[in-house]
Amino acid sequence: MPTSIQYSIDKADRIRFINEGWLQFACQNAGGHLNRAYVIGKSLWDFIEGENLSETYGLIFKAVRTTHQAALFKFRCDSSACRRYFQLTVSPLQEDELMLSTHLIRQISRDTVLLLDPDVQRGEQVLSTCSWCIKACLPNDEWVELEEAVNRLDLLGGGVVPRLQHGLCLDCQVKIETELKNLK
Ligand SMILES: [Zn+2]
Repeated sequence: MPTSIQYSIDKADRIRFINEGWLQFACQNAGGHLNRAYVIGKSLWDFIEGENLSETYGLIFKAVRTTHQAALFKFRCDSSACRRYFQLTVSPLQEDELMLSTHLIRQISRDTVLLLDPDVQRGEQVLSTCSWCIKACLPNDEWVELEEAVNRLDLLGGGVVPRLQHGLCLDCQVKIETELKNLK
């Protein structure tokens, strides 16, 4: 993930501006066919994965547009060998346009986490991870750090590595809602 991702959307959530970091990030996720000419004017919602995340972004956009105040969030987006901490600022512009800026705050190396290794072979089982704090939801509905999930699922002892899907944990939902309430 690039260290700085910036884009703006118009009042109908169509993308008006993207920086190089945005393109890099989107291409890593979508397979490299994206360019500025394709992206500008498209709905942002075409690029956001997962119902929970779309709903959350919708709430954030509404609150920033209504209050005309910037909202600030911290989130995680790790690579397999790094914990990475990011900050997202959603700022109001004129006529209900919004600017979204994401910056890497710090990264900490760690032993490779199998769950995030793009080259590892995966089984049929699906594991939800929180799009905001990157915790994983175990089969008993407990949200734990990825390293703990690897232990608990016995992935190093021969357990099959599950596929990942994006969700949002309850803690993060509450944190985001609290930040939005503080805007009013
Ligand atoms: Zn979370």
